[in-house]
Amino acid sequence: MERIKAIGIDAGSTAIKVVGINEKGNIVFYKVEPTSFQMKPQLEKIIEELPKDVPIGATGYGGDLIGNATITASEIRCHSKGAHLFLKGPGTVIDIGGQDSKVIVIDQEGEVIDFTMNDKCAAGTGRFLETTAWRLKTPVEEMARFAEKADREVQVSSVCAVFAESEVISMVAKGEPMEAVIKGLHRALAKRVASLAQSLNIIPPILLSGGVAQNPVIKSMLEEELKEKIIVPPYPQLMGALGAAIISMESKTKVTNR
Ligand code: ADP
Repeated sequence: MERIKAIGIDAGSTAIKVVGINEKGNIVFYKVEPTSFQMKPQLEKIIEELPKDVPIGATGYGGDLIGNATITASEIRCHSKGAHLFLKGPGTVIDIGGQDSKVIVIDQEGEVIDFTMNDKCAAGTGRFLETTAWRLKTPVEEMARFAEKADREVQVSSVCAVFAESEVISMVAKGEPMEAVIKGLHRALAKRVASLAQSLNIIPPILLSGGVAQNPVIKSMLEEELKEKIIVPPYPQLMGALGAAIISMESKTKVTNR
């Protein structure tokens, strides 16, 4: 394996993401695992298996639990840093995670101009699709494939994830095609995220990150809702961890250069 110069850990509420980068900032190693109830021992085990003497940048919901991190930075800062590598200039980052979503507007240098976050309500986050996927006994990764097969959309009107789940189940039970209902569910999520984005003065280009960015239907629906083209970088779920790794590498360089 190529020599790892810095490590980034994004300890999210749904998934823990770890990346190792080389000196050019390219990802040479990564790992994604579901977050367990016992996050601290889980993180300790992950760290035990990582190369030593490499700076570690930590972020995410459990970022403060990483005792031996070289630097701990906010999710907003790390996501902007990671996304700026791809945007290479000003733009907007829309991150849809498991239990929150954020919109961050960045400037030419990748510095945050403005941001907003939804972490109070599951609607507008990955959890919105997940709860219904569980009820339908379908892996969340398959949900987009169902939606793609639909020839129409059934409107899901509940704004709350819990009510939307019941609404979807009852519509399917009443004979609505599952594909059309699932497509409607995707639309409800895309509209929620789009309205969060529209609460800011967003600037193109828009980059979509977070686990849900792997869902192509959400990407294309967001493009429709926002009337803007959206970039999905390779490994969108790793943006925060990548940003944390870069920040830790830069902070180490600063210390060494002092
Ligand atoms: P967090 O940082 O909040 O832990 P992540 O950015 O890691 O969240 O994203 C996790 C979310 O991404 C989960 O809700 C999961 O269901 C969702 N997800 C992961 N892969 C896919 C996929 N292929 N399609 C749709 N959702 C996905």
